[in-house]
Amino acid sequence: MSQASEQAVLDAVPDGLLVGGGWRPAASGRTFDVHDPATGAVIRTVADGGVEDGAAALDAAVEAGPAWARTAPRVRGEVLRRAFDLLQQRRDDVALLMTLEMGKPLAESQAEVTYGGEFLRWFSEEAVRVAGRYGTNPEGTGRMTVSQHPVGPCYLITPWNFPLAMATRKIAPALTAGCTAVVKPAELTPLTTLYVAELLREAGLPDGVLNVVTTSTAGDVSGPVIADPRLRKLSFTGSTPVGKQLLKQAADGVLRTSMELGGNAPFLVFEDADLDAAVAGAMLAKFRNVGQACTAANRFLVHERVAEEFAARVTAEVRGFPVGRGTEEGVRIGPLIDDRAVRKAEDLVGDAVGRGAEVLTGGARVEREGTFYAGTVVTGVRPGSEILRQEIFGPVLSISTFGDEDEAVALANDTEYGLVSYAFTRDADRGQRLVDRLETGMMGLNVGVISNAGAPFGGVKQSGIGREGGLEGIHEYLSTKYTLTPDPYR
Ligand code: ADP
Repeated sequence: MSQASEQAVLDAVPDGLLVGGGWRPAASGRTFDVHDPATGAVIRTVADGGVEDGAAALDAAVEAGPAWARTAPRVRGEVLRRAFDLLQQRRDDVALLMTLEMGKPLAESQAEVTYGGEFLRWFSEEAVRVAGRYGTNPEGTGRMTVSQHPVGPCYLITPWNFPLAMATRKIAPALTAGCTAVVKPAELTPLTTLYVAELLREAGLPDGVLNVVTTSTAGDVSGPVIADPRLRKLSFTGSTPVGKQLLKQAADGVLRTSMELGGNAPFLVFEDADLDAAVAGAMLAKFRNVGQACTAANRFLVHERVAEEFAARVTAEVRGFPVGRGTEEGVRIGPLIDDRAVRKAEDLVGDAVGRGAEVLTGGARVEREGTFYAGTVVTGVRPGSEILRQEIFGPVLSISTFGDEDEAVALANDTEYGLVSYAFTRDADRGQRLVDRLETGMMGLNVGVISNAGAPFGGVKQSGIGREGGLEGIHEYLSTKYTLTPDPYR
């Protein structure tokens, strides 16, 4: 990748706040830097929004609300569809942009353009399919109409790990449903959201329907927006502690909330599993995004009869993973997002080893410029190890064993999280039992990646509230209204 093309892509990103259809600097005039995690270099400087900018963005969303809600669903859908088409035309630029600001290997950024873009297309198609129902009340005295209406202005907070998909997964259903929004991207990766907002403008989105506030002070800016009585909905993807805090803040205004929080996914390999499929699935479930996904397999729980073979086979794969900047051809292990992430991997592996686990490959920071941690396999991880409790968010595959199905299920459910579970078995009855018994919002049965725009993504327990994508995704942005009229024959 030439430096000239990298610079051209970066230069094409707006650097202001999008408020009411126009790009503008922060009211304070402040800016903050965005870094390439592979080198630590500053790649762009963007507006650092403050409290008054958050308020202005919400003003714009409120003002644009009634007209957008009345806009024909077909017209709303076509704006999103045009944005999807534009994204496809510029997919190489968007992919490069994501790799530059977030670090993931270019092939994964390309995959995210496909995945993230699909939310624009999926919800463009859903725009004209929002339906209600009609019926007679049980007493026979009236006719009931149930209709769906946009909830109103939304505040959308997104994380850094999937800069495109996390944005489109919220923006597309909100706008399709007829809501207006303020989006606040993660301060580590604001560029992709800025790019997509400009793309939506180009696709014909009216002024004020989508507003973007980039800021280095997320809490300070978000508090007043969430407390504003005109806001009706808060959608957040990020860590469980921040999600809990936001839920408390949202309680005052009794806001509708969608929360996509942390995970601690078990990956179960039974003694009858197709090990080729399990190893291939493990590579995807663990190493996609260099492990930086809330859906990443966090705990490999393997039947004791096949644990040694499974460990040897995944180790052989991971040893061969090329490490490098995401823009280099064939890289599997790109940088982690920042130094804190590297230290976390170091601490978790150190704790596991201290309690008796064995490192089969990796197990250390990669000594080079940027924030890299080696692709790692640890086995014999003992109960009580922190790595079984915390979200690793890095390229560390941690293996423990179980003796039978009951123990596997008990271990898998022994977490406050419940986002996704993976299981590999050839026994269809067992597969069905696992679907029933695992406390999880999503499940990959003999597959290692489950995300797609048609699926209701979301968790149970402390992994979250609500679903994004699928038929369910748009309902997060609609409220149900029931109307009774007298029976026409009485
Ligand atoms: P991570 O630890 O993965 O960075 P966070 O939950 O801290 O996850 O961040 C996810 C998103 O939440 C980011 O956009 C971040 O700016 C935002 N965020 C963090 N703290 C707050 C807060 N107190 N109020 C509102 N948004 C916040």
